[in-house]
Amino acid sequence: MEPSHAGRSPAQRWQPGETVVLRYLTRDGKPGMAWPYHVVEDRDDLLALYIPRGSTYKNWVVTPAAEGDGRPTRRLGDDLWRRDVLRLMFPGKGHSVWLFWIDDERRFSAYYINMEEPFRRTSIGFDTNDHTLDVVVTPDLEWRWKDDDEMALRVEQGVFSAEFAAEVRAEGERVIDALERRASPFSDGWEQWTPDPGWGIPALTDDWDTAPTKVWERSVWAYGDIAR
Ligand SMILES: [Mg+2]
Repeated sequence: MEPSHAGRSPAQRWQPGETVVLRYLTRDGKPGMAWPYHVVEDRDDLLALYIPRGSTYKNWVVTPAAEGDGRPTRRLGDDLWRRDVLRLMFPGKGHSVWLFWIDDERRFSAYYINMEEPFRRTSIGFDTNDHTLDVVVTPDLEWRWKDDDEMALRVEQGVFSAEFAAEVRAEGERVIDALERRASPFSDGWEQWTPDPGWGIPALTDDWDTAPTKVWERSVWAYGDIAR
């Protein structure tokens, strides 16, 4: 684990090469999955973060329901991240664009458009949460929706409202439009980006689960207030 960022103001910008913690918050605002990332850039219009394969992150470990006892339980445990990923995030926007490279030749293999909460700054990095729907994009910019069936199921089950699901889809459609116009960030040359060779494997800070969370201000609208 890295030393904590105790005493740091969440409003402060991060410098390239610093290590931050990116967290997905649960619907009731608690730390969930968490990853260590190298900061590539932290600008007004863009937050670029990088995680190399081999990084240890926190993932859900699900224990099936015991015989006769209702629900499965889950806890957060260590897991190994398996791909080199550059994550482009945009202040106030409900998506991020990921770039994947594979093998030692760093062959660019895909973009991935991840619908998510607009990120918030914390004392250790950034908080967001996944919005299920994704778009997978080939290096030739051929795209397809991913998990749109799961999204539809969540609406059917009342986990997501129809209004929320429609907004998430509209966000995806705006990014697909930018993709088809070959607009930013798909025209910015990020496929050729390479990490600083001096960067090692980033590690989570020891306060990854205790640093105060920053809940999305629209979470009650999006998810309802059942969990509160
Ligand atoms: Mg996703």
